[in-house]
Amino acid sequence: DIPPYAQTAFEILESAGFEAWIVGGFIRDTLMGRSDNARDIDMATSATWRETKRAFVEAGFSAHETGTDHGTVTVVVDGHAIEITTYRIDGMYTDSRHPDTVSLASTIEDDLARRDFTVNALAYHPRRGLIDPYGGFSDIEDGILRTVGEPLRRFGEDSLRILRGCRFASQLGFDFDPVTFEAMCAAKSKTLSLSRERVSHEIDLFITGSHVHDALLRCIDVLAAVLPELVALKGFDQKSVFHCYDVLEHTAWVVHNTPAHPLVRWAALLHDIGKPAACYESDGARHFRGHPEISIIIGRGLLQRLGYSSKFTEQVLSLVKRHDDRIAATRKAVRSALRDLDGDTALFIALCQLKRADAMAKAPEYRMRAQTCESLLEILNEILAAEEPFTREGLAINGNDVIALGVAPGPEVACALDAALDAVIEEEVGNSLDELVAFVESWVSSR
Ligand code: ATP
Ligand code: MG
Repeated sequence: DIPPYAQTAFEILESAGFEAWIVGGFIRDTLMGRSDNARDIDMATSATWRETKRAFVEAGFSAHETGTDHGTVTVVVDGHAIEITTYRIDGMYTDSRHPDTVSLASTIEDDLARRDFTVNALAYHPRRGLIDPYGGFSDIEDGILRTVGEPLRRFGEDSLRILRGCRFASQLGFDFDPVTFEAMCAAKSKTLSLSRERVSHEIDLFITGSHVHDALLRCIDVLAAVLPELVALKGFDQKSVFHCYDVLEHTAWVVHNTPAHPLVRWAALLHDIGKPAACYESDGARHFRGHPEISIIIGRGLLQRLGYSSKFTEQVLSLVKRHDDRIAATRKAVRSALRDLDGDTALFIALCQLKRADAMAKAPEYRMRAQTCESLLEILNEILAAEEPFTREGLAINGNDVIALGVAPGPEVACALDAALDAVIEEEVGNSLDELVAFVESWVSSR
């Protein structure tokens, strides 16, 4: 059964005289039993983008051309986006100046031939059923990623397919057909000419996949082209009692153990990236003094190269920086950690998730530390419920009050408020106006 919004789209295109098929991820995921009626749907049609757009607009729906190559129209039906692409013989490398003439010449079978992997090259029609010319159904059953056609040629046409392969391995838990995998390795350097937006989009999907541990270990030599900084982690032994894996596998577990959000997963991916560079040996042991700082330098370069915003980059790096900090399971310690993160509770939660995932990936005897991180989150909830302050704004005294007590307007005001905040966090002073006035008066006189 197809969802009602897809049914509506079929009816609109067919009553306008066109053919349409559901294609892509929706079919694949439904056949895998991962059906999610909320997800976006991809459709292929014999209509040109102009005809598609007209049919939907006339039926009263919004329709926007979204493909860079005049191929795709996104329509919104009952709140669901449907990406409708005109039948094409070729992919991204077709002459985009003549998309209509190229696409009108082809059929759904031709259109399936230009798709990347067999598991993505199935089409479904509510009355005509499934078309599966490349054995996609059996590859789904076997969990195999195999290109439609000769892999080296297909990766040569569009190297994004190489990264899509890694991403599907992580999202679906599929393995590669050996010939396809060999071609991914052989053609990986072609991914260097992709735009950083397309690369970072695929890497985000890769690291948030639910099979990322296996996929990272499997794909490291392919991802090496776009993430060369990770390669030094492979086989790097920390020679420490805390760890039972090399740094790459440890990293893979930490990523896997965090919730599937880009921020915390990026922090997990980068948290130990400076370990090999920071390493030195003395007395037969390996030491990593300065490692979070070196990880930050390497991580910043990587995230900037991939075009992440400076806000996102700095959030990731502040997690990397603090991932090894001990935070005691006390309200004092949690409040001061929150203050150090400028009161960003979402970032604190991400930090706890990262620390928990890191602890869970250590040698078995050290995994119980994960428990402490869970307690930190409980303590955070208590602090929030009790409205205990951890930023200047949370204090019962404000800048004007402080100036009225004789503090000079300007930077001194922030100093006074910070001193008050520290005292409240440390429970030396209560968070009431009376107590804080007395505190600031004595602070002024001690200056
Ligand atoms: P998702 O679950 O992320 O939506 P998807 O398989 O639907 O995965 P889309 O990016 O939505 O992927 O693309 C829809 C379909 O278009 C794919 O299933 C595939 O058949 C085809 N496709 C997308 N990108 C390419 C490409 N670079 N080369 C060939 N075919 C592609
Ligand atoms: Mg899709």
